[in-house]
Amino acid sequence: RLPRRRHGRAGAAGAAPPAAAARMAAESRAYVALGANLGDVKGNLRRTIEALNAAPGCRVTAVSPWYRSRAIGPGEQRDYLNGVVAVATTLTPHALLDLLQALEAAAGRERAVRWGARTLDLDLLLFDTLALADERLTLPHPRLAERNFVVYPLSDLAPRLRLPDGTAVADLRAALGARGLEAVHATLEECDD
Ligand code: AMP
Repeated sequence: RLPRRRHGRAGAAGAAPPAAAARMAAESRAYVALGANLGDVKGNLRRTIEALNAAPGCRVTAVSPWYRSRAIGPGEQRDYLNGVVAVATTLTPHALLDLLQALEAAAGRERAVRWGARTLDLDLLLFDTLALADERLTLPHPRLAERNFVVYPLSDLAPRLRLPDGTAVADLRAALGARGLEAVHATLEECDD
């Protein structure tokens, strides 16, 4: 491992401009899972991605293909649409969670029924290589590795990605298989309503 380069004095030959250096140092890479099966599903997902991209300190850098997956949970429910976005952010993990919860609330998510139908479910899957667990936030997301409707779009976006413990997302995908995944579409527009 190479020693870290010491920062040169301001104006030293080869030093990046201060603003660019600060931006590079502060930006993290997060992956967020999106799912919905109630109301204006495509509209809610599209508006959520736009809102994430427009939020201060957040930029959506990639959007996965979209999977139609069978709903697990009580009663008759529509299939879900599931996808993952990559986000470049200067927010802290908890501030990003706040933003995701505000977007869920804005989409009118009904929290009354556990596993019930949802207008919008947002999960923070990964934040750089952080592993943490407190009363509000667990990283990586605790159910990431058992949900193929999350692992498939994540590995489409980042085929060589590894979890903080070294597990390859491609290996999770192979182990889970595609059971319950009904269709995949390159873009939201191509998905059935
Ligand atoms: P759910 O209803 O399954 O979306 O769970 C929401 C709850 O999970 C909230 O109380 C969050 O604070 C908590 N939570 C813990 N870790 C995460 C995570 N990585 N992403 C989203 N929510 C999380």
